[in-house]
Amino acid sequence: MGIIKKRSAAKVRANEILIRLKRLYPDATCTLTYDTPVQLLVAVILSAQCTDERVNKVTPELFRRFPDAQALAAADIEELTELVRSTGFYRNKAKNIKATASILVEQFGSEVPKRMEEIITLPGAARKTANVVLAHAYGINAGVTVDTHVKRLTKRLGLTKHDDPLKVERDLISLLPQEDWENWSIRLIYHGRAVCNARNPACDRCELADLCPSDQSAILTVPPLKRVSALA
Ligand code: SF4
Repeated sequence: MGIIKKRSAAKVRANEILIRLKRLYPDATCTLTYDTPVQLLVAVILSAQCTDERVNKVTPELFRRFPDAQALAAADIEELTELVRSTGFYRNKAKNIKATASILVEQFGSEVPKRMEEIITLPGAARKTANVVLAHAYGINAGVTVDTHVKRLTKRLGLTKHDDPLKVERDLISLLPQEDWENWSIRLIYHGRAVCNARNPACDRCELADLCPSDQSAILTVPPLKRVSALA
């Protein structure tokens, strides 16, 4: 198959996967709890190497003490560090949150800017952070969020060959409609948790199996003799 035909076949497949993911997880949304874009930004910074569940245990008290950029910028670093301790890498995270809040106060009127180029200059905020914050706080699909789960599933589904998150994102951007970029990531994360987990994907009950080149269920259900002759 030529490159153009391969690309359009992948596009058709990616969009069919997207339709099924929407049907399977109709209420999927960002699982971090927050009231404002600043709080979402802080929660995403805390979620690095940590589960959303754990972050959601920490943020109620954190946001009660320091509800906005001004309060976070003026926060006592020791108290801030203690409040985020259980999320791991807490010294760095506390330092980054305080520094980010100070920049928001000094340069962006205490708000999170709406441009990717500006968000990624903030300490602790990489492209993934910017994608999540722009999509969920402002409804702007600037890119596709690629975390380890999105990368793993996108690769298993044969929609990228890459490991570099930027290259995976580039592939997904070329395959999916822009209004669904964030949809894709959120629902794929749900599917990873429910069915396609890292060590033991449940291909036998996966509703994407007929669209997935990594489907193991067919191999596992073929009787041993047939399997041998099929390989011969
Ligand atoms: S068929 Fe298997 S590998 Fe493919 S998405 Fe489903 S669970 Fe994951």
